[in-house]
Amino acid sequence: MSTVPSITLNNDATMPQLGFGVWQIPDEEAFTAVGHALEAGYRSIDTAAIYGNETGTGKALAASGLPREELFVTTKVWNSDHGYDAALRAFDASLGKLGLEYVDLYLIHWPLPSRGTAVDTYKALEKIYSEGRAKAIGVSNFLPGHLERLLGETSIVPAVNQIELHPWLQQAESRAFHARHGIATEAWSPLGQGKGLLADATVAELAAKHGRTPAQVVLRWHLQLGNVVIPKSATPSRIRENFDVFGFELDDADLAALAGLDSGNRLGPDPATFDVA
Ligand code: NAD
Repeated sequence: MSTVPSITLNNDATMPQLGFGVWQIPDEEAFTAVGHALEAGYRSIDTAAIYGNETGTGKALAASGLPREELFVTTKVWNSDHGYDAALRAFDASLGKLGLEYVDLYLIHWPLPSRGTAVDTYKALEKIYSEGRAKAIGVSNFLPGHLERLLGETSIVPAVNQIELHPWLQQAESRAFHARHGIATEAWSPLGQGKGLLADATVAELAAKHGRTPAQVVLRWHLQLGNVVIPKSATPSRIRENFDVFGFELDDADLAALAGLDSGNRLGPDPATFDVA
C-alpha cells in the first residue's frame, strides 16, 4: 500500500520514484536507519561499496521480513574496481555483504574519463545483468559526453544515470540527454545536502504557502520534474517527513520560482575530473 509512484525503466523493470540514500551512515548505524526507513514505507535503498554500509543495510533488509520482490536495492562499483574482472569481483563482494541473490540496480559510481576504463567496467555490468544478478544496470555521474561513448561501445542502454541534482544545480542538459535516450534521471543530494538550500527564502516561502517543510517542497519539485530521488537522513522524524510528499502539488508559479534558483554550482566533485581510488 505504498503511495510512492514507480518509474518504468528502459528494460521494463520498475523503480520507486522515492528511495532512501545511506551515504555517510556508518555500517553500525545503517541497520537502524534503514530499519526506520522501511518502517516509514520506503522500499528503495541506495547504497554503494564505498559507503561501507552494505552489511548493515543488508541486515536491515533481512530483519524487515519484507518479501524480496517488494524491495529495490541499488549499489555501485567503486573507482578502485574499474575494469572487467575487478568489477565482477566487486559485484560478488557487494552481493555477499548485502546478503542478497540479486540487486535491482547496479551502477558505475564515477566515469573516471582520464582512465578510459568505463566501457570495460560496463561490460562487466552487462554480464551481471545477463545472468539476472542485477535486474537493471546503469551509471552515476556520467556527463552527456561520457554517455555518448558508452552508448557507442556497449549494447545495453543504461537504465539510470544518478547525478547531483537539486534546485541549485538543475542539470537541464543532462536531463534532456537522458530523456532522448530513455535513461531515467536519479537525483543525488536531492536536498542540496540540507544546509543552505533548505534555508533559501524562495523555498521557505513555498513551504509556508503549502503548509509543508522546505525539504518536502524540494522533494515535491523533483517528483513533479520526473526525477527519482533518494534523500538521506538518519533522524527518524526527518525520514518520515521526507516520505510524506504525496499529498500536495506545486503549481506552475511555484515551479517557475524554483527554476529561478539554478546557479549551476556543484556541491560535489566535477565528473569531468574527479578520480579518487
Ligand atoms: P541530501 O541532499 O539527501 O541531504 C541529506 C542531508 O540533509 C542530511 O544529512 C541532513 O543533514 C539534511 N536533511 C535531510 N532531511 C532533512 C529534513 N527533512 N529537514 C532538514 N534537513 C534534512 O544529501 P546526500 O546524502 O548527499 O544525498 C542523498 C543520497 O544520494 C546519498 O545518501 C547517497 O545515497 C546518494 N549520493 C550519491 C552520490 C553519487 O556519487 N552517486 C553522491 C552523493 C550522494
